[in-house]
Order: sequence, then structure tokens, then C-alpha cells
Amino acid sequence: MDCVFCKIIDGEIPSKIIYEDEDVIAFDDVDPQAPIHFLVIPKKHIKSLDELSESDSSLIGKIFLTIKMIAREKGIAENGYRVVHNIGEDGGQSVAHMHFHVLGGRSLQWPPG
Ligand code: AMP
Repeated sequence: MDCVFCKIIDGEIPSKIIYEDEDVIAFDDVDPQAPIHFLVIPKKHIKSLDELSESDSSLIGKIFLTIKMIAREKGIAENGYRVVHNIGEDGGQSVAHMHFHVLGGRSLQWPPG
């Protein structure tokens, strides 16, 4: 499958991996939009949450607990941070492998463009 994030999971494309277990991997975004900007993704190729099924419910829980753990480790939990999941064309999704952006380390504006 021609998926850049599957290639990161397989080690075919280098990345700055922050955390990895049998289900989930987290790595720095190559084009950071904040002092801290990493992505948390499932190893299973799922396009977006629009393609989730009941059997993925524990995987989603694990992704969010991973976000919490890394945010604390990186010291952004106290001041706060943002989790973003872009879905499809209008959502601004450019990589068709479900990923959660985690942005922190500065005050973020709202609303997004
Ligand atoms: P989205 O636009 O929500 O689909 O986000 C895709 C994100 O993946 C962007 O923030 C990109 O900078 C990031 N990205 C694309 N290729 C890589 C890569 N090889 N390593 C790390 N991040 C990447």
C-alpha cells in the first residue's frame, strides 16, 4: 500500500519516533506548526475516524491515553495543548492514514481557518 505513514511504521521512511507499542506509534510532525507538534497513529491502516468500527473502540482509547502520556512527558499538559484530527478533503486531511495531531508549547488561536 502506498501510504507514507505505513512506511514510517515499517521503518521504510525515517521519522523521529517518540513512542511505539504493538498498536500505536507516535512521531514528530515533519512540518511542525507549534514548538511541540507530534502525530499519534494506529499501526492498523484506517483512513480516518469515519471508517472506525466497533472493534476499533479500544484502539481509539489507547490512542488518546498515548496522547495524554506523551503530553505530560513533554511538559505541555499543564498549560494545555490541542488535539486535531482532520477528516477528508474539507477537513484538510492530506495523509489518508488516521492521525491525531498534538500541538502545544505556545498559545493556539481559535477558530482554525
Ligand atoms: P493532515 O494534513 O491532517 O493529513 O496532516 C498530515 C501531517 O503529516 C502534516 O502535518 C505533515 O507535515 C505530516 N507528515 C507528512 N509526511 C510526514 C513524514 N514523513 N513524517 C512526519 N510527518 C509527516
